Amino acid sequence: MKTENCDVVVVGFGNAAQAAAVAAHVAGAKVLVLEKAPEKKKGGNTWFSHGAQFRHVHNGIPDEKPLLPHIQESEWAKIDLPSYTKDDFYSDIMRVTRGRSVPELAELLVNESYSTVKWMREMGIQWEILYNLSKPVGDRFAWHHGSSFINSKDGGGGLVEMWYQIVKSRGIPVRFETAAASILTDDSGRVTGVGVESPEGKSTINCKALVLGSGGFSANPAMRAQFLGAGWDLAKVRGTKYNTGDGIQMALDIGAQSFGHWSGGHATPIDADAGDYEAGFLDPANRRNRTHRYAWTLGIMVNTAGRRFIDEGEDFHAYTYAKTGSEILKQPGGIAYQIFDQKLAASVSRYLYEGAAAVSANTIKELAEMLEINPDALQKTVDEFNNAVVEDRPTDEVIRDGRHTEGIDPPKTNWAQKLDTPPYTAYAATCGLTFTYGGLKINTSCQVLNKFDRPIPGLYAAGELTGGFFYYNYPSGSGLLRGAVTGKIAGTNAARSFLFKTFKSFNAFKTS
Ligand SMILES: Cc1cc2nc3c(=O)[nH]c(=O)nc-3n(C[C@H](O)[C@H](O)[C@H](O)COP(=O)(O)OP(=O)(O)OC[C@H]3O[C@@H](n4cnc5c(N)ncnc54)[C@H](O)[C@@H]3O)c2cc1C
Repeated sequence: MKTENCDVVVVGFGNAAQAAAVAAHVAGAKVLVLEKAPEKKKGGNTWFSHGAQFRHVHNGIPDEKPLLPHIQESEWAKIDLPSYTKDDFYSDIMRVTRGRSVPELAELLVNESYSTVKWMREMGIQWEILYNLSKPVGDRFAWHHGSSFINSKDGGGGLVEMWYQIVKSRGIPVRFETAAASILTDDSGRVTGVGVESPEGKSTINCKALVLGSGGFSANPAMRAQFLGAGWDLAKVRGTKYNTGDGIQMALDIGAQSFGHWSGGHATPIDADAGDYEAGFLDPANRRNRTHRYAWTLGIMVNTAGRRFIDEGEDFHAYTYAKTGSEILKQPGGIAYQIFDQKLAASVSRYLYEGAAAVSANTIKELAEMLEINPDALQKTVDEFNNAVVEDRPTDEVIRDGRHTEGIDPPKTNWAQKLDTPPYTAYAATCGLTFTYGGLKINTSCQVLNKFDRPIPGLYAAGELTGGFFYYNYPSGSGLLRGAVTGKIAGTNAARSFLFKTFKSFNAFKTS
């Protein structure tokens, strides 16, 4: 069997792994990247992150300017961006995860967020302003407090390509169609290499440190059914088909500790016509017609019995979308209909529903017949909803406007408007699993911990396969950020673990 040698092996070719590979290379290591997918399918879930939002702490426009040097002063002058402090980000994480996020990990994400997006810019990643999350107000653009403000140029596909160019320019080899299959250790438990499989067969790569960046188990139906629960094996997967939990399993096999919310995953409302895999786009090969259906906060959402089942206006979709997919999966047939009236059409179009199959009618009963819902049941739901709307203030999408319902269950807490202006339009939505929350236990140096909470020497992890960050829910734009933050730290520490040891002065790098 063929054997090779390298300093740092990085497993995976998504955002987390590429941040790790570049950081290890910057720190002076000889790096090799292994990716299970063929080159034309490279990029994992990162590629499917069409929005490619990166949530980060900032003090408004002055902090954003260094990230976006191409933006002219005349453009900045039309932007209203509230600052987003460390306390804001930390409390958002804790609120949506019901206080379960591990404080040290949440702090790591928050504290490293701005320095990491700035580091990515310095490495060559270009940013754009996320205009589709703003609301035009006259000739100005307003972002609500806590909204993401930047995305990587040309979305997730652009991010993957930019990392690829950076990796190639540094001479870091990437081996596609090469899956890491096992982790090799010596008698002391130190990682000494990785067993790999490719179409040419099996081989071994010896290394001084290994960084796992191979994603979660969203594309493994058996693991989904086992850990997320019955019915999840049938859920649609918004991203790559290659994230089958390999890195997690390999690490558990050598004594790593499993950690985090193993029965939880980020799952959102997506178009009911999306495919079983790569369901982030209706046409993934051409990156056309995104399938996310996030405008439900404006109207109502009913199941096939014509009944509402959640508080559609609980919060901005950025804070509820990641848990709403699971609520749809619990409904009969795993289907829901998002219903809007003509007043809401312009707002809905800002949520990028192009390509979605819509059903329109001049009455609610006609709409119900077209959706094969009992017309009386849907009419009753809409009548009850309309009668419950308290019209004590104007609606305002940019704030939690508090315009609510009274006397119905579930209530609608914000953005409640009567559905009274035909035509009425409905979009069919289902649950799309974005990524899984459970994974490996790491410390803030991104070392993988064993069952005694001690680092496994030479083993680091980054991105989706790390547990402990997200539980139940998640603030939008935090997944790519988690990958970049942990990738940068894991790669740097993987390199320093042996380079600095040579000089007997190793201190685990944590912050830049
Ligand atoms: C439709 C969609 C939209 C999203 N939008 C956003 C967004 O706007 N903002 C945000 O923050 N997050 C978003 N996310 C989540 C985000 O994509 C992920 O959290 C993030 O990309 C995970 O990065 P990663 O590098 O850990 O994993 P990935 O990018 O999934 O990379 C893992 C890589 O490992 C490879 N791999 C797997 N097993 C092996 C093996 N055995 N050997 C070698 N390689 C292996 C895979 O092929 C893959 O390339 C979105 C996700 C989806 C699916």
